[in-house]
Amino acid sequence: MLMTESASLVVMKFGGTSVGDVSRVKRVAEIVGEYRESNPGVGVVVVLSAMAGETNRLVALAKECVERPNPRELDVLLATGEQVTVALLAMRLNEMGIPSKSLLAPQVRIATDSRHTNAQIEEIECATLLEALREGGVPVVAGFQGIAGSGDITTLGRGGSDITAVALAAALKAETCFIYTDVAGVFSTDPRVCGEAKLLERVSHEEMLEMASLGAKVLHTRSVYFAMRYAVPLIVLSTFAGPFEPGRNGTWIVNEEELMEKPVVTGVTLRLDEAQITIEAMPSSIATMAALFDGLSERDVYIDMISQESVGGDAVNVSLTVPDEQSVTALETIRALVPSLRANGVTVERDIAKVSVVGIGMRYHTGVAARVFRCLARENIDVQMVNTSEIKLSVLVARKYCDAAVRALHAEFIPEGATVSAKG
Ligand code: ASP
Ligand code: MG
Repeated sequence: MLMTESASLVVMKFGGTSVGDVSRVKRVAEIVGEYRESNPGVGVVVVLSAMAGETNRLVALAKECVERPNPRELDVLLATGEQVTVALLAMRLNEMGIPSKSLLAPQVRIATDSRHTNAQIEEIECATLLEALREGGVPVVAGFQGIAGSGDITTLGRGGSDITAVALAAALKAETCFIYTDVAGVFSTDPRVCGEAKLLERVSHEEMLEMASLGAKVLHTRSVYFAMRYAVPLIVLSTFAGPFEPGRNGTWIVNEEELMEKPVVTGVTLRLDEAQITIEAMPSSIATMAALFDGLSERDVYIDMISQESVGGDAVNVSLTVPDEQSVTALETIRALVPSLRANGVTVERDIAKVSVVGIGMRYHTGVAARVFRCLARENIDVQMVNTSEIKLSVLVARKYCDAAVRALHAEFIPEGATVSAKG
């Protein structure tokens, strides 16, 4: 459980590019100063990432030193990236006459479990932060790190400073959690693929979750879970594009009830990092299916899509998709099972893409699948697999069709309107 207290305050989180060098740290200090000036009486808690590239540099150092870094020591090393930026920002704020203190996770007490390099937050103590706020200062908290019960430093997994920010906002009952990054917010699709991509003014937590796990990389998925569970209003915006201004810079991520409009489709996403594995000519029975998926689950393989196609007699081809990084494990596991499953063999296909349409409006509308298939048929794009949930429909297509599929679905579902360029 998170300890909660109420006061009028906001959390501002700045990502790696926003604090990428000293001049950018100075810019962040100005943004904090400007916010305080135009919102007197509102407390500000800042959460920072390490400078862009720093965590990667530290990981590389560790790997240069030993082949398999000890996770406890890796966490001690990785946590240093955020220690640098929080100290620099606090210095700068003090210089500007804004009292400020940097705080590392053990000082706040951001308590986590002891799963090094992928720890989960269990509890946040608010006392130190509230004390700093009462004194009129700006606490600057190191994101991404925590402290285990043993007193050891932990980290929350790559990209984890978003989680720190949202968890702090939940614990402190912040009015808003601002996530400052290098893009203007959440777009209706990837602007690099589709020139018609629009900056969205509002999306629901649930849509954001689907979009994040389907390829929109703007926020850490676990931070969106937190935001949804504790009803933390989030704003994602660019550090480099001036103040928050819906439609120009920033997207609200809110509870579904707060959405005025519920378009059928809010976003079109794409993912290129999955592999399709096909088990060929396997005698179809529920027992062989169970044996196949038991084998994969024992190796912790995450399976996304599944389909089965009859190839004559009682034989079927079973296809499934897995994350690229697990494709070797999945392939090994299935190869070992092929004899006992009495299948013909197994193949892997990596030239695929998963394209999805996402929208809470899909709950209230029928015919979305029909429109998706009609639209792709017009473009002569073959669909190899399909996966649906209440608010999304994903299709697997050959990679060469990915961009065309995204553009066609975007044109089909996303109403035309003002477009905003991706970079601020
Ligand atoms: N610095 C950490 C990383 O690069 C955490 C973060 O930036 O969110 O993964
Ligand atoms: Mg990030």
